[in-house]
Amino acid sequence: MDVDKKTLERMIEGNLKWDELKPIISGRKDQNRFDKIMEILQEKVKFDEKILLPLHEHLYIVAKEGQRIVKCDCGYEFGDYKINWKTKCRIRVRDSIDSIEELYPKFMGSDPKWEELREYFCPKCFTLLDVEAVPPGYPTIFNFLPDIDTFYEKWLGRNPPDKE
Ligand SMILES: [Zn+2]
Repeated sequence: MDVDKKTLERMIEGNLKWDELKPIISGRKDQNRFDKIMEILQEKVKFDEKILLPLHEHLYIVAKEGQRIVKCDCGYEFGDYKINWKTKCRIRVRDSIDSIEELYPKFMGSDPKWEELREYFCPKCFTLLDVEAVPPGYPTIFNFLPDIDTFYEKWLGRNPPDKE
């Protein structure tokens, strides 16, 4: 299914109705879908570094001076993509009844003895990037470590843009 760039842009922004979206996500992908998506993302961000892969909402792995780093769409650089970007975040831990009841009605939230909510914010733009609901003391979760080279070589049949 060949989807035009305008429609993909609206999809990324979450502006497609279900009857427009469903055939796109369930149908066969056009050959250059990845390139079209990457082109749209590159135009959306305010920085010039080449995006290698989108990593998470607002976050991208980009090529910069021979390195692969995680960058927020606001421009903040989290450093090496192999190091958990969450370690650079501003973090709010909701581990008390009061802090949990800011979000949930009384008795509808979790018991802080058993679970805490950790909110990870970008230190520059303060966008909420991720939330973990974990037992107290549980290690910070490393969401995703992509194998960039294998992805490009095996799935796209070419070198990643920083190794062309
Ligand atoms: Zn940011």
